[in-house]
Amino acid sequence: MKAKPRKTRRSSRAASASAATPAEVIVSGLGVSPGIVIGTAYLRETGTLEVPEYEIPENGIEDECDRFRAAVSRAARQVRRLRAKAETLPGSAGEELAYLLEAYGHMLKGSRLLRGVEKRITENRMNAEAAVQAELTELSAGFAEMDDAYLAARLDDIRHVAHRLIRSLTKTPYRSMSELPEGSIVVAEELTPADTAQMDPRRIHGFATVLGGAEGHVAIMARALGLPAVAGATGIMSAVKTGDTLVIDGDGGRIIVNPGAATLVEVGRRRAERLSEEKKLVRLRRVPAVTRDGVEIQLNANVELPLEMDMVDRMGARGIGLLRTEFMFMNRDDLPSEDEQYALFRDIVGKMKGSPVTIRTLDIGGEKIAQTLLGDIGESVSSALGLRGVRLSLKRTDVLETQFAAILRAGKHGPVRILLPMVSTVAEVRKAREILKKVAARLKRRKVAMAETLPPLGVMIEVPGAALSADALAMASDFFAIGSNDLTMYTLAIDRSDEQVAYLYNPLHPAVLRLVQFATMAALRARIPISVCGEMAGDPRFTVLLLGLGIRDLSMVPANIPRIKQRVRELDMVEANRRAGAVMEQIDSGRIAMLLDDFNGLSS
Ligand code: PEP
Ligand code: MG
Repeated sequence: MKAKPRKTRRSSRAASASAATPAEVIVSGLGVSPGIVIGTAYLRETGTLEVPEYEIPENGIEDECDRFRAAVSRAARQVRRLRAKAETLPGSAGEELAYLLEAYGHMLKGSRLLRGVEKRITENRMNAEAAVQAELTELSAGFAEMDDAYLAARLDDIRHVAHRLIRSLTKTPYRSMSELPEGSIVVAEELTPADTAQMDPRRIHGFATVLGGAEGHVAIMARALGLPAVAGATGIMSAVKTGDTLVIDGDGGRIIVNPGAATLVEVGRRRAERLSEEKKLVRLRRVPAVTRDGVEIQLNANVELPLEMDMVDRMGARGIGLLRTEFMFMNRDDLPSEDEQYALFRDIVGKMKGSPVTIRTLDIGGEKIAQTLLGDIGESVSSALGLRGVRLSLKRTDVLETQFAAILRAGKHGPVRILLPMVSTVAEVRKAREILKKVAARLKRRKVAMAETLPPLGVMIEVPGAALSADALAMASDFFAIGSNDLTMYTLAIDRSDEQVAYLYNPLHPAVLRLVQFATMAALRARIPISVCGEMAGDPRFTVLLLGLGIRDLSMVPANIPRIKQRVRELDMVEANRRAGAVMEQIDSGRIAMLLDDFNGLSS
C-alpha cells in the first residue's frame, strides 16, 4: 500500500445532538497502514518515566556530558519538527502550540535546566537522566514557593522539556505498551520501531502519531502486523484523551474521535467489505503465481517479527525473501547470544519446510536503534548516513560473527541465504565473506552441525552507489535484493520517516527506476538472482513495471501476497515489457504514474 500524502491536514468538528454525548471529532493525517478499526484510546504521554540512577566513573564524565548533549540535540530536532507541523494547524490552536514549542526550543538551546544538569554530571558524577530528574525536582521546589500563574506555566514547560530529555536518554519503551488492555489504540507524538515491535496485534488494534512517514520502519511494521495506522496527525494529542473511543481509518488517513451512530454503521460496513475481500484473496493461496503467458514469479514474504510466521503460511509465500533481524536486538540491555539467535532461525527455517529463508544481518542504525550498541554508534546514531547496517557489523565483528554462526547452524535445517544491508562497496562484501568463511571453519573444527555448503551471500541494493556499481558488486556477491525503500530515500535525499517531506518520496521517480533497471540488468548479465524486497514489491500498481524490468522475484509483507498474485495472473509478459519500456522513456514521475494507472485500470 502506498499512502497518499495530503498537503493540508485539518481537524474538523461535527456538533453532536446531545450534550451528554461527546462530539465526534475528525483528525486527518497520512494513512500509513490500511484497514479500519475501532478501539479505546491510550495516550502515550501519560506513561510514567523510570529514571535509573548510578555513579559515573571519573574518566567517564566527558562521555556522559556528550551523551547528554546528544540527547539535547535530538530533543531540539524533535521540537523543531513538531513546531513546523504546528504551523499547519488552523487558527489559534496552531499559534498557541507553536509558541509553546518555541519556548521549549529556547530552553534546549541554553537554560538553567541544561546548565544545572551538566554541573551535576561533572561535580556529583551523576548519570545524565538522574541529573535531569534531580534538577527538575529542585526547580519545582523553587517554583512552588512562588504563587504566580505565569511561573506555574513556566514550570510546566520545564517539566515537559525535562521529561523529553529523560525519555531520549533512557530510550525506555513505555512499559505500558505491552500491558495495554485488549482493543487499545495507541496515540503518541512519535513511535520508534522498538515500540512497534512490542505491539501485540491481539491487544493493540491500531495507532495514530503526530510524526512519522509512510515508508519508515514504524509504518512498515504496522503493515506487517496488520495494524491500521495514521501518521502525521497534527493535533491528535489535544483532540484525544485516554479512554475515548477512536476509529483509525488507515485507508482514508483519518482518526475519528468519539464516533457518532452514523459513523459506527459506516465503519461496520467497511470492515465487513474488507473481510470478505480478504477471504476471496486468501483462496488464491494454492494457485501458482504465473503470468497469462506462463512465466512463474516467486512471491516471498518479508518477516519483521516471528509472530508473522502464521501469516506467511496462510498467505502462501514461496519462501522468506527478507528476514529482518533487528527485532532481536531491540527492547533489551544485552545482545542476543548465538544459541538464542540459532534457536529462532532454526524455528523459522523449520516452519518453512524446505523453502528458502533469506536472513539479513543486523541493520541497526538510522531510526532503528539497539540500546546495547549505542556506544559504538555514538553520534552516528540517528544519521541515515552513519554507521548503519553492514558498516556497524564490520566494526563490531563479534556481533557479525555471532549472527553468521547462528545462521550457518540454522542452515542444517533447511536452505538459508545471507543478506548484507547498506552495502556501498565491494570491499565490504569481500570482508564479510572472509568473516563468514572464518566462522564456518571454526564451527567445522568444533564439529558443530551446520549447512553442508556455505549459504549464498547477497547484498541489498539500497544505496545509489551500490546500484551504479552493480556490475562490480555482482562479481563479489551471490545474489541481489533491491531495497527500494532506502534506494528511494538516498537517491532523492528524502528521509523516509519524515512526514514533512513525504510528498517528495516517490519510487516512481525516473532516477530511482533507472537505478532499479541498472542493477537488474547487471544481475541478469552476471546470472545471479535478483529480487525486490522494498515496499514497492507489495504494491500491485508496480507489478507490471517490475516484471517488465526483468524482476521475477518479489518479497513483501505477507498480507500483500494474494493481491500481488492476482495481479501477476492478470499480466502478460509481452505487455509488461512494452509498458516498462514506455515508462523508462519518461522524464517525469507524474507521467510514469499515469502510464501505470492507465495500464492497471485497462487490464484489470
Ligand atoms: C529497503 O530499504 O527497501 C528494505 C527492504 O530495507 P529496510 O526497509 O529494512 O530498510
Ligand atoms: Mg533498507
